[in-house]
This record gives sequence, structure tokens and C-alpha cells, in this order.
Amino acid sequence: MSDCLFCRIVRGEIPARKIHEDDHVLAFHDINPVAPVHFLVIPKMHITSMAALGEEHGEVMGKVMTVAARLAAEQGCVDGFRTIINTGRVGRQEVYHLHVHVLGGTEVLPAMLKR
Ligand code: 5GP
Ligand code: ZN
Repeated sequence: MSDCLFCRIVRGEIPARKIHEDDHVLAFHDINPVAPVHFLVIPKMHITSMAALGEEHGEVMGKVMTVAARLAAEQGCVDGFRTIINTGRVGRQEVYHLHVHVLGGTEVLPAMLKR
């Protein structure tokens, strides 16, 4: 996926404030944070959205979630945090490379959703 924004970040073609990188997972601060801590954790391999996940992605997604939890603690989210995965049109996904938002900090976050 050569023109995918997050694939370009993985390849280093677009700068990002990285906080973790290994062979399979990358984490970086969101460019437009909506909480004191707001970073994204992505599989390096291009997976379009959570709706595209299959059994073959289990291992890498396990790594993504484990990295997310460890980084949340390292970033100071000692009293909890929120993870969000927006999926597709209804989920208002903007970047079509699967990513986990991690939101937190010292403030209590707003209620998750309101009608
Ligand atoms: P989505 O709505 O797809 O779940 O979230 C996409 C997120 O990516 C948004 O929170 C947006 O601020 C973030 N984002 C978009 N472009 C860039 C970028 O070039 N760099 C970084 N670090 N974050 C980005
Ligand atoms: Zn991609």
C-alpha cells in the first residue's frame, strides 16, 4: 500500500514522533491529540481496518495490544486509559490502516458516547 499514510510513516517517508518500534509494531504520537496522552499503535503490515482482520492477524494484533498497554503505563496512564479503534464509515475511520488510539493522562475522560 504505497500511498497509505501510515505505511509511509512506517517507511520513514513522513516524520512522526515515534515512541516504540520493533519488527512488527510501530507507535507514535497522534498529530492532533485530543487528550494529554494520545498515541497510535499500528501493525507495520498494512491491514485496512479492523473489519479486515482474519485469523492470520492474531499474532500481530496481540503484539499491538501488548505494546499499547505497556506504552500507556510508560506514558503515565497509571489510573487507566481508553483505547479506540474506529472502523469504516460508521466508525468514522479516517486513515485506512488499522490503528489503536490510546487516550489518557491525568484527567478523567468524557463519557464514551452520548445519544
Ligand atoms: P481515525 O479517525 O482514522 O481513527 O484516526 C486517524 C488519526 O490519525 C487522527 O487522530 C489523526 O489526528 C491522526 N493522523 C492523521 N494524519 C497523521 C499524521 O500524518 N501523523 C500523525 N502522527 N497522526 C496523524
Ligand atoms: Zn498502510
